Amino acid sequence: MNQDISNIKSQFDADYAAVNSLSAVDRLKYAYLGRKGAISAQFDRMKEIPPEERRAFGAMLNTLKTEITARIEELQQKFAAEQQTEADIDLTLPGITGFRGGLHPLTQVYDEVVDIFRGLGFTVEDGPECETAYYNFDALNTPPNHPSREWTDTFYLDVPGDTWLLRTHTSPVQIRVMQRKKPPIRIIAPGRTYRNDKPDATHSPAFMQVEGLYVDKGVTFADLKGTVLAFYRALYGADVNIRLRPSFFPFTEPSAEVDVSCFFCRGKGCRICKGSGWLEMAGSGMVHPNVLAECDIDPEVYSGWAFGMGLERIALFKFGVDDIRLFYENDLRFLQQF
Ligand SMILES: [Zn+2]
Repeated sequence: MNQDISNIKSQFDADYAAVNSLSAVDRLKYAYLGRKGAISAQFDRMKEIPPEERRAFGAMLNTLKTEITARIEELQQKFAAEQQTEADIDLTLPGITGFRGGLHPLTQVYDEVVDIFRGLGFTVEDGPECETAYYNFDALNTPPNHPSREWTDTFYLDVPGDTWLLRTHTSPVQIRVMQRKKPPIRIIAPGRTYRNDKPDATHSPAFMQVEGLYVDKGVTFADLKGTVLAFYRALYGADVNIRLRPSFFPFTEPSAEVDVSCFFCRGKGCRICKGSGWLEMAGSGMVHPNVLAECDIDPEVYSGWAFGMGLERIALFKFGVDDIRLFYENDLRFLQQF
């Protein structure tokens, strides 16, 4: 009798070791603990066993049943946990790729503006962001009492020896280039500029400008208009138009504000162009003879034009963003849209 029980136990050990799935556990359970299983079969045999041995046999059989039940439960838990893990893995999902950075929207606009002007034969010039009042104002024909010199507009630096400031525009680069090179000069100067403005949706104390300058013999206002029109058409589409409005800047004469026809409403008037059909984009004009003379370029021989515009403003319209501050906050939810 004992032999039967130990046979069942060693057979179970072998079957137990071979189990490799939850369904195999179910089959094992059925084979040993089922109503027609090996254990039940032995219980059925109890009546054939002599009464004096019956009690001991029953005890051994119960011990074996308890052991098998416990080990099968253990197997069930093990394979149920594994199956759970497998079910959670969707092998058809795309893999997780590393984070890829992108170019900041202002950098994209910067690159595009540079590309367009390079295509028109302009080269890119750079200059310092800390300037003296000479380069930022004096050489640009800005009178000593001009309001842009006020500390409320300009960040002055506490540096002895000269009047130092953070440049309020990229125009000082014009002076530096004209004092270094002789015409023909055809440059753009993109870069960071600073003004003492309170940040709001359209103002920032630090912002990007791009300056253009063309000086040669016989340069006319028509060259300015043609170049600016070609630039905005390359940037915003072949169907945009420009208009020039008389204006005043100390360093150009005559001066003009450049408006671009509103490409949101095609000139009909909308919220963005405030109903006018035009978007204010840039300041421009013919380089003032005093500015040329300051750089030892004879205004009787040479003439030139210049323009300046904010890169943020180009980007606002290009991307349909309505708050300039979004460009500086480095919020990935914003930046990832570009
Ligand atoms: Zn409009």
